[in-house]
Amino acid sequence: MVWEERWHPLREEWVIVAAHRQDRPWSGGTVEHQEEELPEYIDDCYLCPGNPRISGMVNARYPQTFVFDNDHPSVSPNAPVELIPPPGIYRNRPARGIARVVCYSPKHNLTLGELEPVEIKNLLQVWQEQYKDLGSRPEIAHVLIFENKGEAVGVSNPHPHCQIYATNFVFKTIETEARVSERHRAETGRVLFQDILAAEHEDGRHIIAENDSAIAFLPYFARYAYEVFVAPKATHPNIARLSDRELFDFAEVLKRVLVKFDNLWQMPFPYVMPLHQAPVDGGDYSGFHFHIEFHPPLRKPNLLKYLAGPEIGGGNFLSDTSAEEKAAELRAQPDVHYKHLPKQEMK
Ligand SMILES: [Zn+2]
Ligand SMILES: [Zn+2]
Repeated sequence: MVWEERWHPLREEWVIVAAHRQDRPWSGGTVEHQEEELPEYIDDCYLCPGNPRISGMVNARYPQTFVFDNDHPSVSPNAPVELIPPPGIYRNRPARGIARVVCYSPKHNLTLGELEPVEIKNLLQVWQEQYKDLGSRPEIAHVLIFENKGEAVGVSNPHPHCQIYATNFVFKTIETEARVSERHRAETGRVLFQDILAAEHEDGRHIIAENDSAIAFLPYFARYAYEVFVAPKATHPNIARLSDRELFDFAEVLKRVLVKFDNLWQMPFPYVMPLHQAPVDGGDYSGFHFHIEFHPPLRKPNLLKYLAGPEIGGGNFLSDTSAEEKAAELRAQPDVHYKHLPKQEMK
């Protein structure tokens, strides 16, 4: 039983860990899961190769990945520039930026974790190119690459894809991580994320997968039950700085995490997955350590983590589970995807 508060050093906030409460009775809503066999191609999917999109544009017959400008952008070079000035202390400005979509595969029925490591590495290279292309534009301050996966996080089209928001501002979490990382470097001469990795290695209980140059762990200070960080072991402010070798190692560890996620309850595992990369606003971010964070919304196969009073109302998380227990659960999962296991080995 863990009942304590844990400090989240990247966000500078306390997480209440109250793992003694997790089996309290629940009679509310649950998330239904019905796994259906999907075909490789669907003729009315706006992400499948060769199909028309709402904008009238037609997707290329792409063999691997496919990048296009979002047809419903939240930020755009074409956002209105003539704005009504608000009263008093209020401020506004044009929603300038670039929003894109990246399809991972031409196959409608695959997920990121089902791609081969070499295909994942190819996708990481696309992310490198996008970061360099969008990040080099003077009007862009930050490039947020993220995947929302599953109906539990509001995504109804299972075609594997992520989104990119290149914005004229730095997203709040990145701004905080960048600020505390630079302060830590100024105060100690060390990289904050390296100190986190050192603590995780010293503890050892939270590590999910590891190879020569990449690591995945469910951090001591996790806010979600199955929150996992995937990172290169060397400090790089962004994905574009990773060598070919590091990229392959990263792809291999990433795949193992995704397979374990899916194997946990033998269902496609929903998550929000942002890449945390240094801003591109001209600042010095040499103490920023690129990583991917997984924020899975489920606590159990059919039970959502509700964000309520502490999280929405107060801004700090209440976790009903401990990192030690959930990391052990994930680590125990096989590295072979359940869809590829012989039937008798399935629960
Ligand atoms: Zn599709
Ligand atoms: Zn982060």
